[in-house]
Amino acid sequence: MIFPPGPFTDEDYDETFIPSPTSILILGSGGLGCEILKNLSMTASHELPLNLHIIDMDTISSSNLNRQFLFKDKDVGKYKCEIASLAVKDRIKVEYYIGKIEDYEDSFYEKFDIIISGLDSINARKWINETIWRIYNNSNNEKSIIFFDGGTEGFQGSIKIIIPGITACFQCYRSLIPDKIVYPLCTLANTPRLPEHCIEWAKQLGWEEIYQDKIFDYDNDEDVEKMFKIALKRANEFGIEGVTKSLTLGVVKNIIPAIASTNAIISGQLCNEVYKFISNCNPNMKDMGYYNGENGVLFDNEEYLPIDNCPVCGIRTEEIELDSNMELIDIVQLIKDKFELSMPVIMHNGIEIYNFKDQGGSLQLSKEGDVTIEVVDKTLLNGMKIRIKYYKV
Ligand SMILES: [Zn+2]
Repeated sequence: MIFPPGPFTDEDYDETFIPSPTSILILGSGGLGCEILKNLSMTASHELPLNLHIIDMDTISSSNLNRQFLFKDKDVGKYKCEIASLAVKDRIKVEYYIGKIEDYEDSFYEKFDIIISGLDSINARKWINETIWRIYNNSNNEKSIIFFDGGTEGFQGSIKIIIPGITACFQCYRSLIPDKIVYPLCTLANTPRLPEHCIEWAKQLGWEEIYQDKIFDYDNDEDVEKMFKIALKRANEFGIEGVTKSLTLGVVKNIIPAIASTNAIISGQLCNEVYKFISNCNPNMKDMGYYNGENGVLFDNEEYLPIDNCPVCGIRTEEIELDSNMELIDIVQLIKDKFELSMPVIMHNGIEIYNFKDQGGSLQLSKEGDVTIEVVDKTLLNGMKIRIKYYKV
């Protein structure tokens, strides 16, 4: 079968053309990662060649086996990415990398066309987002790695398609991600009202009163039982119902249960978007899709534009006030020092005013009214604009 043109393919699309393989890196081989790897290994074909790579630092534990279906009992203790790549080896060859994503440099990530994240940590996703943007900026906007991000929490999940220079970046979405719930200590100590308050009190104060320096281990069932008893005693004192052992474990670990089917739904849609992107057969969804299976079913998507002043993809904008009698060479030096720049190039309307590396430039800038200059420096992910307001002494 030759890959047929779709309704949105270019007019000059040649259907006999066999594309070069798309290099894809999957981040994480846990609940989402197993699903993503399974989907892609079935999607890859002669007409849609894929070079698959997967990275993960974790080993398999028995609690993973209910949803991380590429792993079996005998695999407990082995590295997830190694076993996952072995599980699909009859379909496709997958390179695996044992380690943290932060252990690898830009030169490693530059090799990929697409990065798909099945990570469960916000910080790790922020890190890879910055890496992708840095590579984009350092290549003069030529190397654009497309970032497909998936995430699930209980019966909910989301998908993001992040294209450097076009869509919002992961950092732009930060305001949509709720911060961890923090209970005020005074509520925990004096006026608990919820079972969660009693458990959090047990974790922060109650445990230490009884067990002093012994560190609580949430993987140890005896410890969880002890913590549960402390929380239950506290709840009984205040007449609060609802403290159970599983709620105790949820609160102390600060986890929401991972549900295999939600992982399947989210990674299914995620891989469909990857498939559409590579094959050009249909348009991609706009930017962010979200799924909520908590009360009935909602699956929707919406455009999400880059936010102004995003520290990763936006252009930093600053304002300074300067004495109009100042010499231009002193102004550029002041800008370098004030914003802790390394070797900046300072420009106005695209013309170089001063370049610290060559110590050259036009050294000309109007001192009438307000002037906005542009600054490029290796300390700035995306450049900076500075509005200079002059005053006369
Ligand atoms: Zn951004």
